[in-house]
Amino acid sequence: MRRKDKVFDDHPKEECGVFGVINVDNASEVMYYGLHALQHRGQEGAGIISVDQDQFYKVKGQGLVAEVFKESDLQALKGSAAIGHVRYSTSGGSLIENVQPLFFRHSTGDFALCHNGNLVNSQQLRTSLEREGSIFQTTSDSEIFAHLIKKDHQRNRLGAIKEALNKIEGAFAFLALTKDNLYIMRDKNSLRPLSLGKLNGGYVVSSETCALDIVGATFVRDILAGEILIIHQDNTMTQDFYAEKVYHNMCAMEYIYFSRPDSVIEGINVHTSRKEAGKILAREAFVEADIVVGVPDSSISAASGYAEESKIPFEMGLIKNKYVGRTFIQPSQAMREKGVKMKLSPLKSIVYDKRVVLIDDSIVRGTTSKKIIKLLRDAGAKEIHMRIASPPITNPCFYGVDTSTYEELIAASHSVSELKDYIGADSLAFLSIEGLYQATQKRKLCLSCFTGKYPTYLYKDVKDANKDQKF
Ligand code: SF4
Repeated sequence: MRRKDKVFDDHPKEECGVFGVINVDNASEVMYYGLHALQHRGQEGAGIISVDQDQFYKVKGQGLVAEVFKESDLQALKGSAAIGHVRYSTSGGSLIENVQPLFFRHSTGDFALCHNGNLVNSQQLRTSLEREGSIFQTTSDSEIFAHLIKKDHQRNRLGAIKEALNKIEGAFAFLALTKDNLYIMRDKNSLRPLSLGKLNGGYVVSSETCALDIVGATFVRDILAGEILIIHQDNTMTQDFYAEKVYHNMCAMEYIYFSRPDSVIEGINVHTSRKEAGKILAREAFVEADIVVGVPDSSISAASGYAEESKIPFEMGLIKNKYVGRTFIQPSQAMREKGVKMKLSPLKSIVYDKRVVLIDDSIVRGTTSKKIIKLLRDAGAKEIHMRIASPPITNPCFYGVDTSTYEELIAASHSVSELKDYIGADSLAFLSIEGLYQATQKRKLCLSCFTGKYPTYLYKDVKDANKDQKF
């Protein structure tokens, strides 16, 4: 099921974040700080399931990490192993049952599961599993994976997992926890990041390296495309792969917008890549101006790069109220519009009578860009030249980002010149695809939302949502 309350914002919405701990004392406490560091990847819900020799313990709820977990919860979440999740409901809706990790009881052994990403063949698999007798507890596509594993429970556990992974298609970083092991699995296209760290003799695994740093873990390596890594209770590991052919299609939006600037995604620091994108943008789309202003917070790195390269001073022309929740967690369009105004204020003394280069990382609908430009004009800016540190988003994402239809994407139906007029800028330019390759120092990335070339087969339900479009 696709999210119904479409988000009216100029940024794509993060998918989710996962964090795992094994063989570490007070695993749930480590988990809490890990999830807190991943909060930017999802603010609708959070959950932790831990395990000791006797049983599993579970706490989950809707809201921010700091709201969901109390100190007493962390004490109740016993054991030296845990998995946790922060959620933004790209798939399955924002129901409490869909807050992960999910927990499953089975005669072959209980287990907990959490997932970052999105499956593109979930509807087909769900229908066929239901025909065969499966009853689903949630509308989340992550549960499908659990049913697939247990359907094949006659096989040994690793064999069943491999078989299940071969049936699902899409983007995933899965963590599964049993009484004995932590299972770490990454899709064969390596669309979503997942990194392993060492902590106090045990291990932690995280969607982003920023969370490894926060808990004091040492980065070990990234989980590989198609890899199944099992960390056992005695701290030994078993490595396997579910697919013979693997690909390197890291989501470009992780560098552009999703990940925290202090994270390192497949060897490249996010802030550095954003700053480099800003520098390249200054070379590709220079404009005479008095100041460079970045839309806080995610565009500050790119704005500093543009300023450095263009020799136009960087200025704090927009101030963000840090104590207002992200625009997209407010439910109605009217509330969201209010939220944008509450969130950003122009610094009149800085922008008055100035020619401003306004840097943002991406445009989805164009509505927020339009409002920010109006704010700057009302504050007296003489000219506003918008520069976007990514190419135009012209195609939906089916891999766990909430831009799943063409109607949501203004660049899918407007030329750059039309878009400039719509947002009310004096000029508008985007980073080129080549510029994005250079900024990330990678030639292999998922660029589907810019190019429309998808790394996986797209299944019927995905196509039905976009039936007027050709793939
Ligand atoms: S389509 Fe875009 S947002 Fe989705 S995984 Fe690919 S690069 Fe990332």
